Amino acid sequence: MFEEELLELEKQHLLRKPIIIESYQGAIITIDRRRMLLMCSNDYLGLSQHPALKEAAVAAMERYGFGSGASRLVSGTSLIHEELEHELTEFKKTEATILFNSGYAANTGVIPALAEKGDVIFSDRLNHASIIDGCRLSRASIRVYGHKDMNHLETLLKDHGHHSRKLIITDGVFSMDGDIAPLPDLVELAEKYNALLMVDDAHATGVLGKGGRGTVEHFGMEGRIPIQMGTLGKAFGSYGAYVSGSRDLIRFLINRTRSYIYSTALPPAVCAASLAALKIIKNDTARRERLWRNRERFATGLKSLKIEYGNSETPILPLMIGDTERAIKIGARLLESGIFVAAIRPPTVPEGTSRIRTTLMAGFSDHDIDMALAAIGKVWNEAFTP
Ligand code: PMP
Repeated sequence: MFEEELLELEKQHLLRKPIIIESYQGAIITIDRRRMLLMCSNDYLGLSQHPALKEAAVAAMERYGFGSGASRLVSGTSLIHEELEHELTEFKKTEATILFNSGYAANTGVIPALAEKGDVIFSDRLNHASIIDGCRLSRASIRVYGHKDMNHLETLLKDHGHHSRKLIITDGVFSMDGDIAPLPDLVELAEKYNALLMVDDAHATGVLGKGGRGTVEHFGMEGRIPIQMGTLGKAFGSYGAYVSGSRDLIRFLINRTRSYIYSTALPPAVCAASLAALKIIKNDTARRERLWRNRERFATGLKSLKIEYGNSETPILPLMIGDTERAIKIGARLLESGIFVAAIRPPTVPEGTSRIRTTLMAGFSDHDIDMALAAIGKVWNEAFTP
């Protein structure tokens, strides 16, 4: 029944399957019993393995058991959900926070709660798939503006002055490109045209800003972004997501967001791990500094190898290739050389922009990075020398 489509995907080099990691997640992992440098994890700070997270989760399991038993508005809310929401509110310097089971659940739930038929959503062309799906679910009209193109956005905003609600949505850090959204300009346009602004800080929370508070802190825009979303499965090394904003916004979302209302709450142990991660993110700036030092060493090495990494400004560095088949071959060669990276192809990225997406972690040593650069340089030479 599905054979034809599968064959077609295979022919186009778009058929995917997961690669199994046999060890724990860390800078060095095991695949097929071979040691590999992990360069495609979002566990930027290495917190998924931190003893404090494990201890907090075990203690919460001892106290609460594992599952949460029901959705948040039935009997799924424990003290620890409340505590995490409270701590995230302080961290994000807002009035209130609502937890979600994942970033995907947050975006596909919150966007339709905020915009409906008759409203209009302005969405960056390179926004994450979960935002795109949330926009589609909302049944609002969707206006996609060119990537970070503020002139285009302003033209679209001018054209839609009559709509009852206008919502601008952007990734804070673009997940496949590693560049940063122009928040100050977005805030200015949102305020000028009376639009709501929502920022998805999945890849910025814990990574950007001196205190790890994300793009809002990076640009000093505290108090100016009404809807701040972030995830707990990336730099937090845990699982789940949140939206922070005004007290009324959060009360509204509690009553209107289907992915919050109709889904079993996060297990308390997961929230306990997130709380432990938050403490580390706030207090252990050395990890973040190390992550950025690693990023700079890798980017400098790529420059001297003359390998392009797009407009990346963050620990996500896409090594641009273009052709999908070539990207897959290069990914496979890197795997053979002991570097685990992700070959990213359509539909995750636009046609003709297939790439090797690399991510840095705080746990890499200088030697790890130099080894990766040597392997990448060799594979690039083989692949691009006629
Ligand atoms: N938004 C962005 C920008 C992301 O990169 C991701 C994860 N890839 C998500 C949302 C979804 O988050 P989660 O993995 O927690 O579902």
